[in-house]
Parts: sequence; structure tokens; C-alpha cells
Amino acid sequence: MNANLYSLIAGCFPPSAATPVLIDEDGATYTYEDLERETARLAQMLVSLGLEKGDRVAAQVEKSPQALFLYLATVRAGMVYLPLNTAYQHDEIDYFFSDAQPALVVCRPQALSWIKPLAERAGARHVLTLDERGGGTLAEAAAAQAARFETVEVEEDDLACIIYTSGTTGRSKGAMLSHRNLSSNGLTLRDCWRFSSDDVLIHALPLFHVHGLFVAVHCALLSGARMLFHRKFDARAILGDFSRATVLMGVPTFYTRLLHEPALTREACRGMRLFVSGSAPLLAETHQAFGERTGHSILERYGMSEAGMMTSNPYDGERRPGTVGFPLPGIAVRVADEQDRPLPAGSIGAIQVKGPNVFLGYWRMPEKTREEFTADGFFRTGDLGVFSSDGYLSIVGRAKDLVITGGYNVYPKEIELAIDQIPGVLESAVIGVPHPDFGEAVTAVVVRDQAGAGLTEEAIIRHLKGQLAGYKVPKRVHFVGELPRNTMGKVQKNVLREKFSKAS
Ligand code: ATP
Ligand code: MG
Repeated sequence: MNANLYSLIAGCFPPSAATPVLIDEDGATYTYEDLERETARLAQMLVSLGLEKGDRVAAQVEKSPQALFLYLATVRAGMVYLPLNTAYQHDEIDYFFSDAQPALVVCRPQALSWIKPLAERAGARHVLTLDERGGGTLAEAAAAQAARFETVEVEEDDLACIIYTSGTTGRSKGAMLSHRNLSSNGLTLRDCWRFSSDDVLIHALPLFHVHGLFVAVHCALLSGARMLFHRKFDARAILGDFSRATVLMGVPTFYTRLLHEPALTREACRGMRLFVSGSAPLLAETHQAFGERTGHSILERYGMSEAGMMTSNPYDGERRPGTVGFPLPGIAVRVADEQDRPLPAGSIGAIQVKGPNVFLGYWRMPEKTREEFTADGFFRTGDLGVFSSDGYLSIVGRAKDLVITGGYNVYPKEIELAIDQIPGVLESAVIGVPHPDFGEAVTAVVVRDQAGAGLTEEAIIRHLKGQLAGYKVPKRVHFVGELPRNTMGKVQKNVLREKFSKAS
């Protein structure tokens, strides 16, 4: 059997090809038949350009139905799709191109003048454009092609995509994902989250990241469901779609923003069956507030570029706030000590994962790839976590963010949660900065809310002293207007460490 992800998707098409698969913001509707035909044309075009199996197709384009078709066509043609965040600028793109050496680059028309030289310098043979309405030289080249294409035969370990990590802890790495990685994870999520052809998914995530490109799209396509595309997250527009949708997938900020809308009510959510959150920690508070307002318990799951989704709260049963649930079927997740030995429930350690979802390795980084796998084949996620006695996993932070002060481990999340409870605090980030006596000193960076103008460093420290062991209490508290976040909305603690290392 052909292990091509597209063959699997095509095998899951609904009985009638005239069924809608995607409805764009402006109401334009695409059916499964359109998807089959458009991806055939694009795949045919890739072949006609002389691209071969394994060649990289890099795309830095706005979200559009055509951008989705380009992804599927690339996979269908046995080539390797490489989506790039639209926020990336000159130097970042230069790095990705020279690292990945794409054969074809697809970019926004307005970026052509600076992208083209970078692409050509990295050896790209073709540069085409795609605008947010689906126009550009890509569409022109595809229009001339036959609307039939025989999906290319691949092996399950053949490369389908390279996803660059978000660069939260350092330079982005290219995670190599195979057809099997994507297929197995897609099927697992579809089944665990009970997707069916009756589902209508609100798709408001970007198409250059695991969450929007794989989790959302594969759940929908592998169940013959339909998607309502939103180019950006606009809380009112999303709410307006609740009456004709069944599922929303989002990052935590989607939910905090929805909670600001008075129109978010139980009644408004009547037709919705599932709200999924991931990519960053969902505060237990948000989970509870959403539950009270809507009667829905948000389902939080945990994943990463290198391994797709690894754990999920259950569809049936308790979705426990502040946890990311259980390992998904067929995926082994363990919490291990420094010698890679599994730890019992209740002990904090390194989260490690093994299964058909785990990537092939980092693109052109064999050394780094070797380092990140244990002797018994588990991938080191770089996250720290703990299992409860009844099997729920909680993430306590990233190993790189762990603060070791005077020989004690301090898990930033615990301190951040305590600080966030203090009236006048909007949000916080806890980091370690070099300290002559302690090795590292616990340091808090705090954003005050409107009511918190008078909140001082001393007041915060005093407050925490009554609550936490002395070594966990920040030695210094710095106030900032906002926390530095990368384009995926993740707090960049490396930036904070650099900024405040000298200040303390
Ligand atoms: P880099 O590896 O380049 O530093 P990154 O790890 O942020 O960047 P991604 O692969 O996009 O890049 O993100 C995966 C990470 O996101 C996970 O390792 C984890 O730290 C975090 N994450 C994902 N889902 C959750 C969640 N539900 N709760 C807490 N953290 C999450
Ligand atoms: Mg990472």
C-alpha cells in the first residue's frame, strides 16, 4: 500500500465528492472534489518544474485555501513541504533557505524582491508567488496543468515535511517528519477526539505550524469533515461561527480573548461539541472561567514540532485543568531522571516520548539528533513534567528554564502561578540569573495590570515569603510593560535572561 499521507486522506473522502471541505472567510466554498483537482494540478506543476522526490518546497505565504492545497500537493508529489512563519524577516529567511536548500520557494508577491535573491543564493531553481486571494505566478503555472495526478508512491519513513521549531529556547531546528509520523498522529487524534463527517471545525490557526497545519487539518480531512477558515483570530467573528460549527482548536489566548466577549454564553455554544487548547500552557483559571460561562470543559493537549501530539486530556472523563492528560494510544510518554530511568508518579523529571509520531531527526544535524535520543530510543522533549497517581501529566516548564539556586531546583511555573495570584499582577515570568553565591538567583519579571500601578518589588517579595520556601522567593523583581514573545506567542525567557543578567 502507498504510505503517502495524501493516499490516506483521499481514502477518507466522504462518499460524495461534492461535499464541502473548506469555507473561506468570504464565503467561497471548496468541495472535496475541488481539493482533489487543485492538488492534482499543483502536484503536476511541481513535477513539470523538474522537482523530484525529496526536494524541498518552501512556502512563506498568507493563509489561504490555496496555501493548504500547496501543502497537500507537495506531499502528494512525494516532495517535502517546508512552511515558514509569515513574521520571519530577511535574516531569518536567509538562515532557513541556506539550511534547507529548497528547490522551489513560494512567497507573497510583495516579498518577491527580497526573497528571490536569498532563494537563488541558496540554490532554489524556481521562485513563485501566491497572494492571500490565491492569485500569483503559482496559480498561473498550475492553471495550465492537467487536473489528474497519480499520488507518488512513498515508504512510510520517507520525508513529508520539515517543520522548523518555534525558536523559543534558541535557534529554530528543522524537524524532519515522515508520512508515517503525520498519518499515525492524524488518525490517533481523529479517533480520540471523535471526529466524524458531521463535524465543522473553526480553523483560525496559522498554516505554518504543527497545530494549524497538522492537528486541525488532518483531523478534518481524515474524517470527511469541513473547515471554516479564518485568516486571523477575531473573537467576534469566531463567536459568530459557533452557530454553524462543532469544534474549535486554539491556543490559550483564543480562550482568554473569547472570555472578554459578553456574547460568549452557554446558549452561543449550544451546537459546539469540543474546544481544544494547546501550544502553550492554558491557565487553570481560564479553564474554569470558560467552563462556568459555557458549560464546556476545554480539552488541553500537549505536543511539539518533533513529535506531533503526545498527550491529551480524555474525550470522556475528567479534563483536568492545569494538566495535559494521558499519553495518546500507541505513544509511550515517561518522566525520567538524569540517567533516563523512569520516575514514579509524583516525581518531577524530563518528559521523554517514543512512538510512530516521533520525528526522523533534525535536518542536517545528526549530532544533535543523536544527543536528543536515549539509549532505548526515547526522544528528549526538553520539557519537565510530573505524572499524578492517576496518570495525568502536568508540565512544569522547560529543562532549559529550570533555575538551580544554592543547589535547589526551582520550577518557574510554581513561582509564576503564585505571583499571578497577587492583585495588580497581569502576568509574570520567572528566570534564573547568574549569582556569585547561589549559582543562579530566582528573578521575577512582572507585568502589572491597570490596578497594579502602585505594586512594588518589596510588596511582591513580602507576599511570596509567607507562601513559598525561602529559596524559591525571587531575589529581585523587575517590572516590564510586556513580556517578550516570539511569533508563536511563547515567552522568550532567553531574552529575559540576557536582559536581566546584569541588572541584578
Ligand atoms: P524551540 O524548540 O525552537 O525552542 P519550541 O519548543 O517552542 O521552540 P514548538 O515545537 O513549536 O517549538 O513548541 C513545542 C513546545 O511547546 C513544547 O516543548 C512545550 O514546551 C510547549 N507546549 C506545547 N503544548 C503545551 C501545553 N499544552 N502546555 C504547556 N506547554 C506546551
Ligand atoms: Mg522545542
